[in-house]
Amino acid sequence: MSVISPAKAASTGGANAGSSRTRPGKLAESGSPTVRPPAAAHLTDEQVAELGRELDAIRDEVLAKRGAEDAAYIRRVIKVQRGLEISGRAALLVGKNKAAWVAGTTLLSLAKILENMEIGHNVLHGQWDWMRDPDIHSTTWEWDFVTPSRSWQHTHNDLHHRWTNVVGKDNDVGYNLLRMDEQQPWKPMNLGNPLYNAILAPLFEWGIAIYDLELTEFKEGKKSKEALHKDLKALGKKVITQFTKDYAATPAVAMLTGSGKQALYGTLTANAVRNVWAHAVIFCGHFPEGTDTFTEEMAEGETRGDWYIRQMIGSANISGSKFMHIMTGNLSHQIEHHLFPDLPSNRYAEVAPKVREICQRYGLKYTTGPLLKQVGSTWGKIFKLALPGKTAKA
Ligand SMILES: [Zn+2]
Repeated sequence: MSVISPAKAASTGGANAGSSRTRPGKLAESGSPTVRPPAAAHLTDEQVAELGRELDAIRDEVLAKRGAEDAAYIRRVIKVQRGLEISGRAALLVGKNKAAWVAGTTLLSLAKILENMEIGHNVLHGQWDWMRDPDIHSTTWEWDFVTPSRSWQHTHNDLHHRWTNVVGKDNDVGYNLLRMDEQQPWKPMNLGNPLYNAILAPLFEWGIAIYDLELTEFKEGKKSKEALHKDLKALGKKVITQFTKDYAATPAVAMLTGSGKQALYGTLTANAVRNVWAHAVIFCGHFPEGTDTFTEEMAEGETRGDWYIRQMIGSANISGSKFMHIMTGNLSHQIEHHLFPDLPSNRYAEVAPKVREICQRYGLKYTTGPLLKQVGSTWGKIFKLALPGKTAKA
Protein backbone atom coordinates (compact mmCIF):
# COMPACT_ATOMS: atom_id res chain seq x y z
CA MET A 1 0.00 0.00 0.00
CA SER A 2 1.53 3.31 -1.01
CA VAL A 3 1.28 6.38 1.13
CA ILE A 4 0.31 9.82 -0.10
CA SER A 5 2.28 12.76 1.16
CA PRO A 6 0.58 15.44 3.25
CA ALA A 7 1.06 17.90 0.38
CA LYS A 8 -0.66 15.60 -2.11
CA ALA A 9 -3.44 14.81 0.33
CA ALA A 10 -4.10 18.51 0.77
CA SER A 11 -4.12 19.15 -2.96
CA THR A 12 -6.50 16.26 -3.67
CA GLY A 13 -8.86 17.34 -0.99
CA GLY A 14 -12.19 18.30 -2.54
CA ALA A 15 -13.90 16.19 0.08
CA ASN A 16 -11.44 17.27 2.74
CA ALA A 17 -12.45 20.81 2.11
CA GLY A 18 -16.06 19.67 2.35
CA SER A 19 -15.57 18.03 5.69
CA SER A 20 -13.75 21.01 7.13
CA ARG A 21 -16.69 23.18 6.12
CA THR A 22 -18.91 20.94 8.24
CA ARG A 23 -16.96 21.96 11.36
CA PRO A 24 -17.71 25.21 13.05
CA GLY A 25 -14.04 26.19 12.93
CA LYS A 26 -14.65 29.43 11.08
CA LEU A 27 -17.58 30.55 13.18
CA ALA A 28 -17.21 33.28 15.79
CA GLU A 29 -16.47 32.08 19.30
CA SER A 30 -18.62 34.73 20.96
CA GLY A 31 -21.76 36.67 20.16
CA SER A 32 -25.24 35.37 19.41
CA PRO A 33 -27.43 34.35 16.47
CA THR A 34 -30.38 36.48 15.29
CA VAL A 35 -32.68 34.12 17.18
CA ARG A 36 -31.56 31.37 19.53
CA PRO A 37 -33.63 28.15 19.22
CA PRO A 38 -36.32 27.95 21.96
CA ALA A 39 -34.69 24.83 23.47
CA ALA A 40 -31.51 26.85 24.07
CA ALA A 41 -33.08 30.24 24.81
CA HIS A 42 -32.29 29.90 28.53
CA LEU A 43 -28.54 30.03 27.87
CA THR A 44 -26.52 33.26 27.96
CA ASP A 45 -23.95 34.08 25.26
CA GLU A 46 -21.17 33.32 27.74
CA GLN A 47 -22.63 29.90 28.56
CA VAL A 48 -22.92 29.03 24.87
CA ALA A 49 -19.31 30.09 24.31
CA GLU A 50 -18.19 27.95 27.26
CA LEU A 51 -20.17 24.96 25.94
CA GLY A 52 -18.37 25.42 22.61
CA ARG A 53 -15.00 25.35 24.34
CA GLU A 54 -15.92 22.21 26.27
CA LEU A 55 -16.91 20.38 23.08
CA ASP A 56 -13.75 21.58 21.32
CA ALA A 57 -11.77 20.09 24.20
CA ILE A 58 -13.48 16.69 23.73
CA ARG A 59 -12.58 16.80 20.04
CA ASP A 60 -8.96 17.76 20.75
CA GLU A 61 -8.64 14.94 23.25
CA VAL A 62 -9.64 12.38 20.60
CA LEU A 63 -7.35 13.95 18.00
CA ALA A 64 -4.43 13.66 20.44
CA LYS A 65 -5.09 9.93 20.95
CA ARG A 66 -6.01 9.02 17.37
CA GLY A 67 -3.47 6.60 15.89
CA ALA A 68 -2.46 3.01 15.28
CA GLU A 69 -5.34 1.53 17.26
CA ASP A 70 -7.90 3.39 15.14
CA ALA A 71 -6.14 2.51 11.89
CA ALA A 72 -6.14 -1.15 12.90
CA TYR A 73 -9.87 -0.90 13.61
CA ILE A 74 -10.90 0.35 10.18
CA ARG A 75 -8.57 -2.07 8.41
CA ARG A 76 -10.13 -4.91 10.43
CA VAL A 77 -13.66 -3.80 9.50
CA ILE A 78 -12.72 -3.62 5.81
CA LYS A 79 -11.21 -7.12 6.01
CA VAL A 80 -14.34 -8.52 7.66
CA GLN A 81 -16.53 -6.77 5.07
CA ARG A 82 -14.55 -8.29 2.19
CA GLY A 83 -14.75 -11.73 3.78
CA LEU A 84 -18.52 -11.41 4.15
CA GLU A 85 -18.94 -10.24 0.58
CA ILE A 86 -16.78 -12.96 -0.97
CA SER A 87 -18.39 -15.76 1.06
CA GLY A 88 -21.87 -14.35 0.39
CA ARG A 89 -21.36 -14.29 -3.35
CA ALA A 90 -19.68 -17.71 -3.27
CA ALA A 91 -22.68 -19.25 -1.48
CA LEU A 92 -25.06 -17.68 -4.00
CA LEU A 93 -23.19 -19.44 -6.80
CA VAL A 94 -24.83 -22.64 -5.55
CA GLY A 95 -28.03 -20.83 -4.58
CA LYS A 96 -30.22 -23.63 -5.94
CA ASN A 97 -29.57 -25.19 -2.57
CA LYS A 98 -31.95 -23.39 -0.18
CA ALA A 99 -29.54 -23.28 2.77
CA ALA A 100 -26.80 -21.87 0.54
CA TRP A 101 -29.22 -19.22 -0.77
CA VAL A 102 -30.23 -18.12 2.73
CA ALA A 103 -26.60 -18.05 3.89
CA GLY A 104 -25.40 -16.25 0.77
CA THR A 105 -28.14 -13.63 0.85
CA THR A 106 -27.62 -13.00 4.59
CA LEU A 107 -23.84 -12.65 4.25
CA LEU A 108 -24.14 -10.35 1.24
CA SER A 109 -26.75 -8.21 3.00
CA LEU A 110 -24.43 -7.84 6.02
CA ALA A 111 -21.50 -7.04 3.72
CA LYS A 112 -23.46 -4.30 1.96
CA ILE A 113 -24.68 -2.82 5.23
CA LEU A 114 -21.18 -2.79 6.69
CA GLU A 115 -19.75 -1.25 3.54
CA ASN A 116 -22.29 1.56 3.34
CA MET A 117 -22.60 2.36 7.02
CA GLU A 118 -19.40 1.79 9.00
CA ILE A 119 -17.02 2.09 6.05
CA GLY A 120 -18.48 4.14 3.17
CA HIS A 121 -20.30 6.92 5.03
CA ASN A 122 -17.41 7.44 7.41
CA VAL A 123 -14.54 7.16 4.92
CA LEU A 124 -16.38 9.63 2.67
CA HIS A 125 -16.53 12.07 5.58
CA GLY A 126 -12.74 12.01 5.67
CA GLN A 127 -12.70 10.30 9.08
CA TRP A 128 -9.69 8.19 8.04
CA ASP A 129 -7.88 10.64 5.75
CA TRP A 130 -5.25 11.26 8.44
CA MET A 131 -3.95 7.72 7.78
CA ARG A 132 -2.70 8.96 4.39
CA ASP A 133 -3.72 5.65 2.90
CA PRO A 134 -4.90 6.31 -0.67
CA ASP A 135 -7.10 3.20 -0.52
CA ILE A 136 -9.04 4.37 2.54
CA HIS A 137 -9.49 8.01 1.64
CA SER A 138 -12.43 10.34 1.12
CA THR A 139 -11.17 11.32 -2.33
CA THR A 140 -10.80 7.78 -3.67
CA TRP A 141 -13.42 5.57 -1.99
CA GLU A 142 -16.30 4.48 -4.25
CA TRP A 143 -19.01 2.83 -2.22
CA ASP A 144 -21.41 -0.06 -2.90
CA PHE A 145 -24.40 2.26 -3.30
CA VAL A 146 -25.88 3.43 -6.57
CA THR A 147 -25.27 7.15 -6.06
CA PRO A 148 -21.67 8.12 -6.89
CA SER A 149 -19.54 8.96 -3.84
CA ARG A 150 -18.71 12.48 -5.08
CA SER A 151 -22.36 13.48 -5.63
CA TRP A 152 -23.32 12.22 -2.21
CA GLN A 153 -20.41 14.00 -0.51
CA HIS A 154 -21.75 17.30 -1.82
CA THR A 155 -25.36 16.89 -0.64
CA HIS A 156 -24.38 15.15 2.61
CA ASN A 157 -21.10 16.65 3.83
CA ASP A 158 -21.40 20.12 2.38
CA LEU A 159 -25.14 20.70 2.69
CA HIS A 160 -26.83 18.38 5.20
CA HIS A 161 -24.10 18.54 7.86
CA ARG A 162 -23.71 22.27 7.52
CA TRP A 163 -27.42 23.13 7.59
CA THR A 164 -28.66 20.28 9.83
CA ASN A 165 -32.44 20.57 10.25
CA VAL A 166 -32.66 24.17 9.01
CA VAL A 167 -35.92 24.02 7.08
CA GLY A 168 -35.44 25.45 3.59
CA LYS A 169 -31.66 24.88 3.66
CA ASP A 170 -31.29 21.21 4.66
CA ASN A 171 -33.12 19.21 2.00
CA ASP A 172 -32.64 16.07 4.09
CA VAL A 173 -35.74 17.29 5.95
CA GLY A 174 -38.03 15.10 3.83
CA TYR A 175 -35.66 14.62 0.85
CA ASN A 176 -37.96 16.77 -1.38
CA LEU A 177 -40.46 13.91 -1.14
CA LEU A 178 -41.90 13.71 2.35
CA ARG A 179 -43.42 16.34 4.60
CA MET A 180 -41.33 15.93 7.76
CA ASP A 181 -41.83 19.24 9.51
CA GLU A 182 -44.73 21.50 10.35
CA GLN A 183 -42.87 24.45 8.84
CA GLN A 184 -43.20 22.77 5.42
CA PRO A 185 -46.49 23.97 3.87
CA TRP A 186 -49.04 21.18 3.55
CA LYS A 187 -50.09 20.15 0.02
CA PRO A 188 -52.66 17.50 -0.99
CA MET A 189 -49.84 15.27 -2.28
CA ASN A 190 -48.63 14.98 1.33
CA LEU A 191 -51.56 12.65 2.01
CA GLY A 192 -49.34 10.00 0.41
CA ASN A 193 -46.54 10.56 2.98
CA PRO A 194 -46.69 7.04 4.51
CA LEU A 195 -47.06 5.38 1.11
CA TYR A 196 -44.08 7.26 -0.37
CA ASN A 197 -41.97 6.31 2.63
CA ALA A 198 -42.95 2.63 2.38
CA ILE A 199 -41.92 2.63 -1.29
CA LEU A 200 -38.75 4.62 -0.57
CA ALA A 201 -37.40 2.19 2.05
CA PRO A 202 -36.56 -0.84 -0.18
CA LEU A 203 -35.47 1.48 -3.01
CA PHE A 204 -33.56 3.88 -0.77
CA GLU A 205 -30.33 3.96 -2.81
CA TRP A 206 -32.32 4.99 -5.90
CA GLY A 207 -34.14 7.68 -3.95
CA ILE A 208 -30.79 9.07 -2.78
CA ALA A 209 -29.34 8.86 -6.30
CA ILE A 210 -32.20 11.01 -7.64
CA TYR A 211 -31.99 13.35 -4.64
CA ASP A 212 -28.25 13.85 -5.22
CA LEU A 213 -28.95 15.10 -8.76
CA GLU A 214 -30.49 18.21 -7.13
CA LEU A 215 -33.24 18.50 -9.74
CA THR A 216 -35.06 21.17 -7.74
CA GLU A 217 -31.92 23.34 -7.73
CA PHE A 218 -31.66 22.80 -11.50
CA LYS A 219 -35.31 23.79 -12.04
CA GLU A 220 -34.79 26.90 -9.91
CA GLY A 221 -31.73 27.87 -11.97
CA LYS A 222 -29.34 27.32 -9.05
CA LYS A 223 -27.61 24.42 -10.80
CA SER A 224 -26.25 24.66 -14.35
CA LYS A 225 -27.16 22.33 -17.21
CA GLU A 226 -23.48 21.35 -17.47
CA ALA A 227 -23.32 20.39 -13.80
CA LEU A 228 -26.47 18.29 -14.10
CA HIS A 229 -25.12 16.64 -17.24
CA LYS A 230 -21.89 15.79 -15.45
CA ASP A 231 -23.80 14.30 -12.51
CA LEU A 232 -26.06 12.27 -14.82
CA LYS A 233 -23.02 10.88 -16.63
CA ALA A 234 -21.37 9.88 -13.35
CA LEU A 235 -24.61 8.27 -12.18
CA GLY A 236 -25.01 6.35 -15.46
CA LYS A 237 -21.49 4.98 -15.11
CA LYS A 238 -22.12 3.96 -11.52
CA VAL A 239 -25.44 2.26 -12.38
CA ILE A 240 -23.62 0.15 -14.98
CA THR A 241 -20.94 -0.86 -12.44
CA GLN A 242 -23.54 -1.81 -9.83
CA PHE A 243 -25.71 -3.74 -12.29
CA THR A 244 -22.72 -5.56 -13.73
CA LYS A 245 -21.52 -6.68 -10.31
CA ASP A 246 -24.84 -7.67 -8.76
CA TYR A 247 -27.22 -8.50 -11.58
CA ALA A 248 -24.91 -9.76 -14.34
CA ALA A 249 -21.58 -11.15 -13.09
CA THR A 250 -22.73 -13.04 -9.98
CA PRO A 251 -25.81 -14.62 -11.68
CA ALA A 252 -23.78 -15.41 -14.83
CA VAL A 253 -21.20 -17.41 -12.89
CA ALA A 254 -24.00 -19.06 -10.88
CA MET A 255 -25.53 -20.30 -14.14
CA LEU A 256 -22.68 -22.81 -14.27
CA THR A 257 -24.35 -24.65 -11.39
CA GLY A 258 -27.87 -23.92 -12.66
CA SER A 259 -28.30 -21.29 -9.92
CA GLY A 260 -28.42 -18.14 -12.09
CA LYS A 261 -31.98 -17.16 -11.20
CA GLN A 262 -31.48 -17.85 -7.49
CA ALA A 263 -28.27 -15.78 -7.45
CA LEU A 264 -30.13 -12.88 -9.07
CA TYR A 265 -32.88 -13.07 -6.44
CA GLY A 266 -30.16 -13.19 -3.79
CA THR A 267 -28.40 -10.02 -4.93
CA LEU A 268 -31.75 -8.23 -5.38
CA THR A 269 -32.78 -9.24 -1.87
CA ALA A 270 -29.43 -8.20 -0.36
CA ASN A 271 -29.72 -4.75 -1.94
CA ALA A 272 -33.30 -4.37 -0.68
CA VAL A 273 -32.35 -5.50 2.86
CA ARG A 274 -29.48 -3.01 2.94
CA ASN A 275 -31.79 -0.27 1.64
CA VAL A 276 -34.46 -0.92 4.29
CA TRP A 277 -31.82 -0.94 7.04
CA ALA A 278 -30.03 2.21 5.85
CA HIS A 279 -33.37 3.99 5.47
CA ALA A 280 -34.45 3.03 9.00
CA VAL A 281 -31.16 4.12 10.60
CA ILE A 282 -30.97 7.38 8.68
CA PHE A 283 -34.57 8.31 9.41
CA CYS A 284 -33.89 7.74 13.12
CA GLY A 285 -31.11 10.35 13.00
CA HIS A 286 -33.16 13.53 12.81
CA PHE A 287 -36.88 12.73 12.70
CA PRO A 288 -37.88 10.99 15.98
CA GLU A 289 -39.94 12.88 18.55
CA GLY A 290 -37.64 15.16 20.53
CA THR A 291 -35.46 16.39 17.67
CA ASP A 292 -35.81 20.06 16.77
CA THR A 293 -35.88 21.83 13.43
CA PHE A 294 -34.76 25.40 12.92
CA THR A 295 -35.57 28.51 10.94
CA GLU A 296 -32.98 30.27 8.79
CA GLU A 297 -32.86 33.15 11.31
CA MET A 298 -31.68 30.68 13.96
CA ALA A 299 -28.68 29.76 11.82
CA GLU A 300 -27.86 33.38 11.02
CA GLY A 301 -24.96 34.69 13.07
CA GLU A 302 -24.45 31.35 14.80
CA THR A 303 -21.39 31.14 17.00
CA ARG A 304 -19.32 27.99 17.32
CA GLY A 305 -21.28 27.05 20.46
CA ASP A 306 -24.64 27.70 18.75
CA TRP A 307 -23.62 25.49 15.83
CA TYR A 308 -22.82 22.70 18.27
CA ILE A 309 -26.16 23.18 20.02
CA ARG A 310 -28.09 22.95 16.74
CA GLN A 311 -26.31 19.68 15.91
CA MET A 312 -27.12 18.23 19.35
CA ILE A 313 -30.78 19.16 19.63
CA GLY A 314 -31.45 18.44 15.95
CA SER A 315 -30.13 14.87 16.12
CA ALA A 316 -31.15 11.66 17.90
CA ASN A 317 -29.21 8.57 18.95
CA ILE A 318 -30.18 4.89 18.99
CA SER A 319 -29.33 2.84 22.06
CA GLY A 320 -28.22 -0.77 21.72
CA SER A 321 -25.38 -3.28 21.60
CA LYS A 322 -21.90 -2.80 20.18
CA PHE A 323 -22.90 -4.94 17.18
CA MET A 324 -25.84 -2.66 16.50
CA HIS A 325 -23.60 0.42 16.70
CA ILE A 326 -21.24 -1.05 14.09
CA MET A 327 -24.08 -2.08 11.78
CA THR A 328 -25.49 1.46 11.91
CA GLY A 329 -22.05 2.81 11.03
CA ASN A 330 -22.12 4.36 14.50
CA LEU A 331 -24.92 6.61 13.28
CA SER A 332 -26.57 5.30 16.42
CA HIS A 333 -24.30 8.06 17.81
CA GLN A 334 -25.84 10.55 15.43
CA ILE A 335 -25.47 13.37 17.98
CA GLU A 336 -21.74 12.78 18.34
CA HIS A 337 -21.38 12.29 14.58
CA HIS A 338 -22.99 15.65 13.91
CA LEU A 339 -20.78 17.38 16.47
CA PHE A 340 -17.61 15.79 15.13
CA PRO A 341 -18.29 14.47 11.60
CA ASP A 342 -14.63 13.86 10.85
CA LEU A 343 -13.61 12.02 14.01
CA PRO A 344 -13.19 8.26 13.51
CA SER A 345 -16.53 6.53 14.12
CA ASN A 346 -15.02 4.02 16.57
CA ARG A 347 -14.45 6.95 18.97
CA TYR A 348 -18.07 8.12 19.17
CA ALA A 349 -19.04 5.62 21.87
CA GLU A 350 -16.35 6.91 24.25
CA VAL A 351 -17.24 10.59 23.78
CA ALA A 352 -21.01 9.97 24.06
CA PRO A 353 -21.21 10.01 27.91
CA LYS A 354 -19.24 13.28 27.99
CA VAL A 355 -21.57 14.89 25.43
CA ARG A 356 -24.59 13.67 27.35
CA GLU A 357 -23.24 15.11 30.60
CA ILE A 358 -22.72 18.49 28.89
CA CYS A 359 -26.31 18.43 27.62
CA GLN A 360 -27.58 17.69 31.13
CA ARG A 361 -25.48 20.42 32.72
CA TYR A 362 -26.60 23.05 30.22
CA GLY A 363 -30.26 21.98 30.30
CA LEU A 364 -30.30 20.75 26.69
CA LYS A 365 -32.08 17.61 25.56
CA TYR A 366 -30.18 14.55 24.44
CA THR A 367 -32.62 12.41 22.46
CA THR A 368 -32.01 8.67 22.43
CA GLY A 369 -33.95 5.40 22.47
CA PRO A 370 -33.98 1.80 21.21
CA LEU A 371 -34.22 1.28 17.44
CA LEU A 372 -37.83 0.09 17.36
CA LYS A 373 -39.03 2.99 19.48
CA GLN A 374 -37.22 5.52 17.27
CA VAL A 375 -38.47 3.88 14.06
CA GLY A 376 -42.03 3.93 15.48
CA SER A 377 -41.67 7.59 16.45
CA THR A 378 -40.45 8.50 12.95
CA TRP A 379 -43.34 6.67 11.30
CA GLY A 380 -45.73 8.39 13.71
CA LYS A 381 -44.47 11.76 12.47
CA ILE A 382 -44.79 10.66 8.83
CA PHE A 383 -48.45 9.74 9.38
CA LYS A 384 -49.19 12.87 11.42
CA LEU A 385 -47.68 15.26 8.86
CA ALA A 386 -49.59 13.63 6.00
CA LEU A 387 -52.52 15.67 7.30
CA PRO A 388 -52.60 19.45 7.56
CA GLY A 389 -53.36 19.43 11.31
CA LYS A 390 -53.97 22.52 13.35
CA THR A 391 -50.35 22.84 14.46
CA ALA A 392 -49.13 23.40 10.89
CA LYS A 393 -47.60 26.86 10.55
CA ALA A 394 -48.01 26.94 6.76
ZN1 LIG B 1 -22.80 12.12 8.04
